[in-house]
Amino acid sequence: MKPIYFDNHSTTQLDPRVLQAMLPYFTDLFGNSASRNHAYGWEAEEAVEKSRGQIASLIGANSKEIVFTSGATESNNLAIKGVAEMYAEKGNHIITSATEHKAVLDTCKHLEKKGCRVTYLPVMGDGRIDMEMLQNAITDKTILISIMYANNEIGVLQPIAEIGKLAKERGVLFHSDAVQAVGKVAVNVISENIDLLSITAHKMYGPKGVGALYVRRKGPRVQLTAQLDGGGHERGMRSGTLNVPGIVGLGEACAIAKAEMAEESKKLSGMRDRLRAKFEAALDEVFINGSMEHRLPHNLNMSFAYVEGESLLMGINDIAVSSGSACTSATLEPSYVLKALGLGDDMAHTSIRFGLGRFNTDAEVDYVADKVISVVKKLRELSPLYEMVKEGIDLSKVQWTAH
Ligand SMILES: *Cc1c(COP(=O)(O)O)cnc(C)c1O
Repeated sequence: MKPIYFDNHSTTQLDPRVLQAMLPYFTDLFGNSASRNHAYGWEAEEAVEKSRGQIASLIGANSKEIVFTSGATESNNLAIKGVAEMYAEKGNHIITSATEHKAVLDTCKHLEKKGCRVTYLPVMGDGRIDMEMLQNAITDKTILISIMYANNEIGVLQPIAEIGKLAKERGVLFHSDAVQAVGKVAVNVISENIDLLSITAHKMYGPKGVGALYVRRKGPRVQLTAQLDGGGHERGMRSGTLNVPGIVGLGEACAIAKAEMAEESKKLSGMRDRLRAKFEAALDEVFINGSMEHRLPHNLNMSFAYVEGESLLMGINDIAVSSGSACTSATLEPSYVLKALGLGDDMAHTSIRFGLGRFNTDAEVDYVADKVISVVKKLRELSPLYEMVKEGIDLSKVQWTAH
């Protein structure tokens, strides 16, 4: 028996309907969408254009504004480096936030070495940026604001429409890594004034290795310096023969999301809230990380105080979830996202991310709740710290003797 999958922020299972849509493009319909001289090419091109329309329709864009990529890491690189290079004469300042995905943070770090100045905005205790700080960070050299739509660890939604409005007023381009949000909550590039938006298929029940970047064409017309040299595909912004089956899959995933998102989100937030309620009813000293009000419907990130996340994971090895510790070069680093919220290393290490998804069931929620509760209780029985707290000792006042 494979573990119950509650790790839908890492990747999602391919929807069988998406697979069905893709299959013909691995066999009979194998043409290169750039082949203009015969039916093989035309069929492939038609499928690619249909997908462009399906993606655009989900985010309120025009299909001409969709650029296909290999995934969101590439979309983020293309958006940020592409703007930094194209608008270098206008300015060299970029604003982002401390809780972005590495694909944004490391791209910004790379650009700092090339002479860009980057402001990494801190977040408040609930995981959201402070709009006043953002406003104060903008200078006449600022060319880009890159703030994620929803965080991949804590599911917190940023005030995207407010950021978009501010960026537009100040004449600064706005990019959002919307990987976790698209297909889960309503995203609209027009009403939210987003100029560039990153998407990946495998976080929304599509295949791995295909994504898209929305690039605004009107008001303003955003230009990007290409990061790959070659055949000039995708309006010259991203050369390379298109991954036709993958693109068909991304389009189908978007069409399904558009049709089912409202109902699915309601179902998943109900399951998520039930999971949370069960934890809170059975356990003390459990804490939610990040805003509950501004949050993806399918995310729960909780700290189980006095229980080491890695030990908890070992105790629940028939459940696939992630902990707030990242394995970097053999040491266990607490999550930089949780630390940015103000959590200490100890609390960050006790956190677990539950990411629900389309294929989870109510029975799985019950099983996960019961299992986690019983393992947390068992581990706490072994914890001298938890015992001291139960005896009413204030741990912060204890004089620990050094050895
Ligand atoms: C998964 C993820 C990415 C990276 O996407 P890939 O398609 O796997 O490269 C970027 N940003 C966020 C927020 C993610 O969750």
